[in-house]
Amino acid sequence: MFVEDLTSDKASRVIGKIDTLILPVGTVEAHGPHCSVGADIIVPVRMAQEVEKLAGDRVLVAPIIPYGHTWHLKDFPGSHDVPAEVLVEYVYHVLKGFHDTWKIKYAIILNGHGGNDESLALASEKAASLGLATIVLDWWSGPFLEALNKVVPELDGHAGEGETSLVWNVGEKYVDTSIIPKEENPRLTNDTIASFSDIHDKRYASVALPRAYIGRPSRASMEKGRRLNEEAAKLVVELVDKVRSGKLF
Ligand SMILES: [Zn+2]
Repeated sequence: MFVEDLTSDKASRVIGKIDTLILPVGTVEAHGPHCSVGADIIVPVRMAQEVEKLAGDRVLVAPIIPYGHTWHLKDFPGSHDVPAEVLVEYVYHVLKGFHDTWKIKYAIILNGHGGNDESLALASEKAASLGLATIVLDWWSGPFLEALNKVVPELDGHAGEGETSLVWNVGEKYVDTSIIPKEENPRLTNDTIASFSDIHDKRYASVALPRAYIGRPSRASMEKGRRLNEEAAKLVVELVDKVRSGKLF
């Protein structure tokens, strides 16, 4: 069930009956020369729609928080950055609102952007003090990786094969297929003892990601995106059912 579909009357009948929230969070960020800067918004929104299709009234799907913390790539044209500490407070208050007024007990954050991770962890810790249990999911890591590797054997990250496929699946207008880079950009593979997200230097992003992508976007396809989206949504629904049956907490 989608929050934005409900009238106030319908909401009053739902409140207290659905205890699990899906909250997508994204950002506005450069994604190679070929993907829309809305990639990290439209991908988790599409996943949340698929989750709703599978889980129906077992979950309440919230509108996305579209602005995130985009420190590394903020100097690329089209990127937009909200400071991490502002995002913590904002996400916390969104969670608190669903806890206080919608009587939500469990929140699953479907995150589209790695730069949000620290803020989402801190917001979730704060929300835990209210009695709200929150799980933050990055669709490209943890349990997702194994499932998604069935479709894209080497899931490559930012605007690469996997993500470009997912964006493409949302709509053709979000990928300019005429300019998908043919060259692989492997700069972020393990040639350094620190990972990209660990290096906080203004010059580093433009050196490591000269065109704001990594991996092999030329292998992307809409069909791969459809399958990746389905696999990811299935895992989220499995988690929802675990949470609701008391098997997780
Ligand atoms: Zn992205």
